[in-house]
Amino acid sequence: MATQMEFNCFECKGSFRHFFVDGVYSAPIKCQSKKGCKSKTFLPMKDKMKTIFYQRIKVQELDPEGRAPLQMLCELRENLVGKIITGETLMLSGIIKTESYEEKDKKTQGIFTPYMQVNSIKQRKGVEVI
Ligand SMILES: [Zn+2]
Repeated sequence: MATQMEFNCFECKGSFRHFFVDGVYSAPIKCQSKKGCKSKTFLPMKDKMKTIFYQRIKVQELDPEGRAPLQMLCELRENLVGKIITGETLMLSGIIKTESYEEKDKKTQGIFTPYMQVNSIKQRKGVEVI
């Protein structure tokens, strides 16, 4: 997942760092170099990209009492990647976020998938992973 990238301005030739929200690529809308010109054209410097490790997992509710268990998509970042074993019972805490599908098909536009960006993992025995 890319978190930031350097862009070069076509006009003033200045370079600046542009941050991506939740790893979603976005082009800068104005020149943020020291000169700060009015250009709207920038060249992405793909070799000057900062990336982080992440992993997506699906967790299922434990003991749903007769109904179908609820499922939730979770995202683990950096030091949490690879800390979970399939079938483990866990307590996760984090932030609920949504992501939209950037598809050209109008039917799917505006559909948001909720997921949790996990901040901490607690295994059943009460041992904290982080
Ligand atoms: Zn510029």
